[in-house]
Amino acid sequence: MARVQLKNLEKVYGSFKAVHGIDLDIEDGEFMVLVGPSGCAKSTTLRMVAGLEEITGGEIQIGDRRVNDLPPGKRSIAMVFQNYALYPHMKVRGNLAFGLKIAGRPRAEIDAAIEQVAKILEIEPLLDRLPKQLSGGQAQRVALGRALIKKPEVFLFDEPLSNLDAKLRASMRVRITDLHRRLKAEGLSSTVIYVTHDQIEAMTMGDRICVMQAGEIMQVATPKELYNHPANLFVAGFIGTPEMNLLDGALENEEFVIGAQRLALGPHVMNRLSTLPGQAVLGVRPQHLSLVREGPALTARLSNAEFMGHEVYLHADLEGRKLVSVVTAGEFEALGGSELIRLRPDPAMLHIFDKSNGRNISLLGGRLAA
Ligand code: ADP
Ligand code: MG
Repeated sequence: MARVQLKNLEKVYGSFKAVHGIDLDIEDGEFMVLVGPSGCAKSTTLRMVAGLEEITGGEIQIGDRRVNDLPPGKRSIAMVFQNYALYPHMKVRGNLAFGLKIAGRPRAEIDAAIEQVAKILEIEPLLDRLPKQLSGGQAQRVALGRALIKKPEVFLFDEPLSNLDAKLRASMRVRITDLHRRLKAEGLSSTVIYVTHDQIEAMTMGDRICVMQAGEIMQVATPKELYNHPANLFVAGFIGTPEMNLLDGALENEEFVIGAQRLALGPHVMNRLSTLPGQAVLGVRPQHLSLVREGPALTARLSNAEFMGHEVYLHADLEGRKLVSVVTAGEFEALGGSELIRLRPDPAMLHIFDKSNGRNISLLGGRLAA
């Protein structure tokens, strides 16, 4: 069993605090993604779990063991990096066998393990090639095989797909999540901690996602929960494409005021608010704005339309703020070239953030006292 727990985990480099006492509980068999912009300390955190980076404060537990002082080889982990770092002078077979050879496993066992892993990853025809004779995707599969063959309790991935082109990245995403599912189905403990800066990778791969910023955890939740109920402005802006519209304004008398425009919020939204800040930010995803002719809506001036096939991305100006909405090609055509558009946010999918601290104050059950 390999649950992984980070308890008040801290990392200081010289006088710079990179990780600010984070707590994270990863269940046995869970696929946890750490996501955040470059420099937010994803790698530092992962490397502390791996034992490649000393822990400044707090504790890491793998299974029921505290591993702070255990060397990497004793932690029952395997790591896959962006630079797959295969031994260049060894054939694929040798690269796969290396860890087991060092561990002194018998020849027959190693051969059987190579055969099994090669089959799973469909790299059997590559076993007698040198790394330089492999494509990027093939090399990454061998790197994956080298981790898999160790039968670790925890897999650690640090941006393993960043060096691949978009198409290959998409197919490797599926391959890795499939592999995780298969290992789990076979009853093999296969907890995964997967680091990426790419929110699409995070959303498509993670059972849960831990969103980080500047060495702190912003939110830990399932992809669906993050998308529908972002806890703060950072998560709201980071998850989802195109990005959520975040419009500066103020709350006044059950209306959201943006420049000269007032949008009636209605009970759907008002009943969800937990506080009533003055300065606030209205958040609505481009997918949750619909073109309307009448009724409460925001009026914006269309500046550009990007045709994506089935959908059209409308870029517009709303009181000096940029606004994006996603509409169908049919809805776009029905506009008939009109420059002024009226957009109504879906009240159920509209968020209000307190500007002073970034918190989403429109999450469930916040009903204000009258
Ligand atoms: P990420 O993987 O999210 O891009 P890192 O974990 O690599 O971020 O880095 C987190 C922060 O710690 C960054 O500000 C980085 O510059 C700093 N950092 C990383 N490694 C070192 C190091 N060896 N010495 C000093 N600062 C470091
Ligand atoms: Mg990194």
